[in-house]
Amino acid sequence: MTDAPLAPGSTIGILGGGQLGRMLSLAASRLGFDVVILDPEDNSPAGRVSRGQIVAAYDDPVALNVFGRVCDVVTFEFENVPASSMERLAEAGARVAPGPVALAVAQDRVDEKTFLNGVGATTVDFVPVETLNDLTAAIETLGCPALLKTRREGYDGKGQVWIKSPKDAAKAFEAIGGRPAILEARADFVRELSIIAARGRDGATAIYPLGENKHAGGVLRTTVAPAEVDVKTERRARAIARAVLDGLDYVGVIGIELFDLGSGKLLVNEIAPRVHNTGHWTQDGCVCDQFEQHIRAVAGWPLGPTAPHARVEMQNLLGDEVDQWAKLAGKADVRLHLYGKAEARPGRKMAHVNKVRPL
Ligand code: AMP
Repeated sequence: MTDAPLAPGSTIGILGGGQLGRMLSLAASRLGFDVVILDPEDNSPAGRVSRGQIVAAYDDPVALNVFGRVCDVVTFEFENVPASSMERLAEAGARVAPGPVALAVAQDRVDEKTFLNGVGATTVDFVPVETLNDLTAAIETLGCPALLKTRREGYDGKGQVWIKSPKDAAKAFEAIGGRPAILEARADFVRELSIIAARGRDGATAIYPLGENKHAGGVLRTTVAPAEVDVKTERRARAIARAVLDGLDYVGVIGIELFDLGSGKLLVNEIAPRVHNTGHWTQDGCVCDQFEQHIRAVAGWPLGPTAPHARVEMQNLLGDEVDQWAKLAGKADVRLHLYGKAEARPGRKMAHVNKVRPL
């Protein structure tokens, strides 16, 4: 496999056909690439703006073989892709970025936190939990309140339950389906920040300014970026980003969620080995947004600039909030990004808006 940058006209494969895949696909098209999506759902948001879509399960061996053969490089917008799928793609001859190590680490909250602390990116204290007895012991170790999360496959606050008192243990364990879990100490943060960063095939890094995030019910509502942060906090966040990227020998864009404890102290909440909702502000705040940056990285191109040219407030439109599109489209300072989803189920991410202000 050659290490030359992927030429325009080559094919980039994206596992996952949601809005992140759609925005990656649009960015790749602008750089002259063809994009093929693999997603079990026909007519996916990303499939509709791409050259084609293979409609199949993420672990379908035949589909993965075809996908691996038609794509020069395969990336993903969705990190719960089985590791065996990545192996199949590599066997079929596709380069896969980010690599299987990053994917495996991000799929398991215990492995993730162990990795993070190992590279000096501190997290909250935590205890792995397999049984109710483990949970009772973990509550004794960490105290209350503490947050019980499934080890795998949790997102947007799903598979999580707060434990306020030791007597909640059995109910909480049942609520997450008695699955392998992690108990986390509560982070006493003053606010939530995130940093979007990229690493190229040559090991070069590009790091965007921090964003400040507000969640409701575990789901991101707004990001304001660049966040108002002191120099110490900015430096610490950038050091964390570099440690994580180098520690994973990473290629692509990563989203790193941080708890700001004040006085420059940061804890890492979690990492997402893909473009990230808290990086959508870069579409209207930077010359090279996170989607183009990711495509550049996985294609072996030089990374793009990350300096902001505007202050942006990104707001997610969930469910029927998307019905405001006509009003929002009439506002001069608002850029509307619609995902082309037919059904506005409650809480579903349908679109986002970037409100753009001068720096
Ligand atoms: P996660 O799915 O891990 O990103 O968690 C979703 C949200 O829950 C975070 O953005 C925080 O607002 C909150 N949260 C998660 N873990 C903790 C923790 N250990 N302490 C306090 N809040 C947390």
